[in-house]
Amino acid sequence: MTDSIEYERMLRRRRDELTARDAELLATLASLGELRDANNDDEHDPDGAPVSGEWSRLAGIRRETQAELAATDAALGRLAAGTYGICVNCGRPIAPGRLEARPTAELCIVCAERTSRR
Ligand SMILES: [Zn+2]
Repeated sequence: MTDSIEYERMLRRRRDELTARDAELLATLASLGELRDANNDDEHDPDGAPVSGEWSRLAGIRRETQAELAATDAALGRLAAGTYGICVNCGRPIAPGRLEARPTAELCIVCAERTSRR
């Protein structure tokens, strides 16, 4: 069984990775955005569509990264508050195996399955 110090270490490392990835994505999106803006004058530019396709793809990844970052922050907040590993919905403990696989989990497996079925 993993103790809370280990979860905290895991979450902080995850947070660092996500922050770095988010900064990278932001930089790439900014340079693609400039390319796309430069192409706006010419509707027939064959490079226009691929750039905005790539931009949308990266913007999607960035949204996921930020959601993951928010979930990681929330998990660190629960660790600090002493409520980490307790289902936010039903108040029952989350199985250690689930937390090890998904340290940001805020729902126990029962509630998570109920929510995803909705
Ligand atoms: Zn629950």
